[in-house]
Parts: sequence; structure tokens; C-alpha cells
Amino acid sequence: MKNSKKQNYQFGKFNHGSYGAKLFDERWKKLRKSVLKRDFNKCVVCSSVENLQVHHKQYHFSELKRTFKEPWEYDIKYLVTVCKKCHQKGHSKYKIPTKYIK
Ligand SMILES: [Zn+2]
Ligand SMILES: [Zn+2]
Repeated sequence: MKNSKKQNYQFGKFNHGSYGAKLFDERWKKLRKSVLKRDFNKCVVCSSVENLQVHHKQYHFSELKRTFKEPWEYDIKYLVTVCKKCHQKGHSKYKIPTKYIK
């Protein structure tokens, strides 16, 4: 595993619980790209263009499947572009709400 990948992995784990390696999934990469495009490749909080990440505004737990949705299964409206700094700040301040769906 390359160094940068390892760092990302740890960061993802820290922020998004069990997502971990899923953030390297092609489906996630594709969705992530369209979120960045919609937000003009800028952090929506501070307008930074560096170290951009995509944050989930809420997590969806499927009661039918008894599991959380995969990161790429969310509608783009639940996703937002933030820089690493604002992302970390946000997560230390707020708890991400979990919505229970069918
Ligand atoms: Zn920012
Ligand atoms: Zn996040």
C-alpha cells in the first residue's frame, strides 16, 4: 500500500466509521467526482481548493437490509464538498444524524 493511500485510509476510517477501503471503490470515486463538480471543486465552507473531500450530511440505515447504505448509494443532495480542514472540524463539532429507511 502506498503512503498516500494509507493516510487516506486512516482519515476515512476516522471520519466515516466503517467506510474505510470502500472510499477507493470506483462507484464512490465516480459519485465523488460529480459532487466536486457541482460544488465547483471548492470547499463549500471556506472555498479552499486543496485537499478536497466529500462529506455525507446524514447516514442512512436500511431497516430491511439491517445495514448502512454504501457510500455511493446516497443521493448527491446528501453530499457536500469540504476541504480536509473543514471536514475534520465539522466532524469534531457535529454528530452526523442517522436516518432510518426501509
Ligand atoms: Zn474548507
Ligand atoms: Zn464527513
